[in-house]
Amino acid sequence: MPEAVDPTIVIGAGVAGLTTALYLQRAGETVVVVDPLPPAGGASYGNAGLISADTSVPIALPGMVRKVPGWLTDRLGPLSVDPRYLPTALPWLVRWVMASRASRVESISDAMRALHQTTFDCWRELLGQAKFSELIRPLGQVHAWESDTETPSAALERSLRERQGIRTEKLTQDDLRQMFPGISRRVVRGLLLPGNGFTVNPQRLVQTLGDLLQEAGGTLVNERASRIIPGESGGHTVMTNIGWRKARKVVIAAGAWSNDLLRPLGIRVPLETERGYHAMLTAPGIDLRLPISNKTRSFGVTPMEHGLRVGGTVEIAGLQAPPNIERAKVLLEHVKGMFPDVDTREHRFWMGFRPSTPDSLPILGQAPGLPNVFLALGHGHFGMTGGPPSAKIVSNIVLGRPSPIDPAPYSAQRFV
Ligand SMILES: Cc1cc2nc3c(=O)[nH]c(=O)nc-3n(C[C@H](O)[C@H](O)[C@H](O)COP(=O)(O)OP(=O)(O)OC[C@H]3O[C@@H](n4cnc5c(N)ncnc54)[C@H](O)[C@@H]3O)c2cc1C
Repeated sequence: MPEAVDPTIVIGAGVAGLTTALYLQRAGETVVVVDPLPPAGGASYGNAGLISADTSVPIALPGMVRKVPGWLTDRLGPLSVDPRYLPTALPWLVRWVMASRASRVESISDAMRALHQTTFDCWRELLGQAKFSELIRPLGQVHAWESDTETPSAALERSLRERQGIRTEKLTQDDLRQMFPGISRRVVRGLLLPGNGFTVNPQRLVQTLGDLLQEAGGTLVNERASRIIPGESGGHTVMTNIGWRKARKVVIAAGAWSNDLLRPLGIRVPLETERGYHAMLTAPGIDLRLPISNKTRSFGVTPMEHGLRVGGTVEIAGLQAPPNIERAKVLLEHVKGMFPDVDTREHRFWMGFRPSTPDSLPILGQAPGLPNVFLALGHGHFGMTGGPPSAKIVSNIVLGRPSPIDPAPYSAQRFV
């Protein structure tokens, strides 16, 4: 009997791990996905579901440094840093401020553009047309403001879009009131991004990837990887809470927790968690056709098959601090301010961990100095968008094939 080949082990069953696993399995690899939680148990569960092919604006923009004192003192602002966590987060925050320099922003934005623009094609390829149509709406997204004055960061976002030739349509208050009946008059103008879209259910979308993986012959196991032990002949051992698993190749896609596996391997990458919250309104009493992001108050509302999801806020407080319920409650106030008729009585709060790099670009490809270990992590605010195109890049690198786009901007080497 021929000896069984050790599988490729993918650690993490979020959008990053499962899209990579599915591409690999379909390319003929034997794939085992290891995660103590079922598919979509992390950030991929509770995100706002925006799939933003035409959004390529980094989170760190010029002028950030002036805002730091406010982040430290306003615990309920759109971005807050827990002062107790500041010493831990400081090196990452310094890199973040460096990435916000005007000289860096254009090249980061171009790399985001190269990745994000194929997202719908990748989702269609992974899901097939029928499931794509069931779960994804490539119908556009709306940005809206409560002031006629354009802020410097909004002007920069506009110039990045113009530079990349991204199609937009300006919306007057009347346009907004037609598109979103009942929207408050305090929202005075908007912008339609017709090339963007959303999923009606991020959890079901990622669970579907898990189902498709198993249909293709891949395996999901509920185990927590505790350590990767490099082997001498190229293969590796993945220690889990249940036992030791031999792997020909390993892909680390453990989201915000990836550093727990990287550090013992001597791999240091600036990965921090930007915690975010949502309020799921299960009986909102209003319908929206498109997602709308309130850029003045930094929150967004996405219509989903199980209600309206109000999401947003960034909190730098690490993986251990308990959720701050007040940050979630603010989302209810915000949505009520934008849609006075919305019924917020039936709601569920959630907090999740964005796996974020300082330059808003994921970390993809070969792990530095470790043959047959690969990285698919760090998607920050954009995993539902960048996850599938990233998976295409990583799976090609794992298979030793040419990457569909230049992978250099996403390499871990940029931090070495
Ligand atoms: C409030 C909020 C709103 C967002 N909105 C959007 C949006 O609208 N559009 C968008 O594109 N992105 C959005 N994002 C970002 C997006 O959700 C993330 O970038 C994406 O889900 C990250 O996917 P991931 O697979 O890397 O991580 P996760 O989904 O967190 O998955 C990581 C998995 O790894 C597992 N794991 C961890 N450690 C181990 C271990 N030791 N062994 C085995 N498994 C392990 C975890 O259990 C988890 O299942 C949002 C995020 C938040 C928090």
